[in-house]
Amino acid sequence: MIEEENDEDILKKGVTFKSVLKNLLSIFLIILGALFIYGGILPDAVIGWSTGFMLICLGASLIQMQKKPTDPIRQTLTILICSLCGLTKVRNYENGDFVFRRIDKCDKCDDMMEVKQIYSVRLKKPTESNSEAEDKKQIKNSEKKLK
Ligand SMILES: [Zn+2]
Repeated sequence: MIEEENDEDILKKGVTFKSVLKNLLSIFLIILGALFIYGGILPDAVIGWSTGFMLICLGASLIQMQKKPTDPIRQTLTILICSLCGLTKVRNYENGDFVFRRIDKCDKCDDMMEVKQIYSVRLKKPTESNSEAEDKKQIKNSEKKLK
C-alpha cells in the first residue's frame, strides 16, 4: 500500500505542474488575444482582430489539449462482496470484470464473491468534480475497515 501511495504522489506532482503551466500559458494567450481585439494595440484594426482571434484559438486549443494526457492517469477499482458473509474486497480492475459477475474466492468462507461496483478514480487531485473525490474517500475508508 505504501509503495502505491508514493507512485500516486509522483503522478500528482507531474500532472499538476504541467497543467498549471499550460493553464497559465493558455490564459495568457487568451488575454493577449483579447487585448489585440479590444485594446487596439496595433494601428491596423483588421490585423489586430485576426491576430487576437488566432491567439484566443491557440489558448483555447491548449486548454483542450491538456485534458487528454490526464486520461491514462486513472485507476479503475473493482469492489467485490461476498453474498454469504458480506466481506468486501477492493482490488484493481481486471479485464472481464463486470457488475454482478461472480469471481474470486472469499477469504473467509471460500464462497464466490460477486462484483458489486466498478470505480474509476483519478490519481491526480480532482478539480473538476467533487463526486470522484468522494468516491475515492469511500474506497479508502472501506480499505481501512477491511484492515
Ligand atoms: Zn464470505
